[in-house]
Amino acid sequence: MPSQFELLAKYNTSVPRYTSYPTVPFWNELTPDLYWEQNFRENFMKQNSLGGISLYLHLPFCESLCTYCGCNKKITTNHAVEEEYIDTILKEWQLYRNLMDEVPVIRELHLGGGTPTFFSPRNIERLIEGILKNYVRSGWEDRSFRG
Ligand code: SF4
Repeated sequence: MPSQFELLAKYNTSVPRYTSYPTVPFWNELTPDLYWEQNFRENFMKQNSLGGISLYLHLPFCESLCTYCGCNKKITTNHAVEEEYIDTILKEWQLYRNLMDEVPVIRELHLGGGTPTFFSPRNIERLIEGILKNYVRSGWEDRSFRG
């Protein structure tokens, strides 16, 4: 297990605001829709061969609004939204998987929101298992999602 100093050295860097994708510094490099698929394929293959890809999953629901919030969120106490939202993420992930010409090496998986813990443990488990089906793990500690 890495020490706190190693973790600080690894993560103490400036990064773009993660709730926008593509992140703002890359907006000028966006290609027309016509080339998006080809661009995705090429960038995926390049990044996958360089040690793997990082994923960010946005889970936008919160039960109450914080007065300082600037996030992309949906305020609700209706937890029935969980199932449909996860189904939609997994469908979107399948669209990306269809464009990947090799099995993805996943080096990082980030959950953000919103409040990821809005979702039940069972639904978070379903989401993670759906994303991590048929992948190669890189540089992860071996942890169980069953607690
Ligand atoms: S997204 Fe974060 S800051 Fe915004 S309402 Fe939810 S918990 Fe509060």
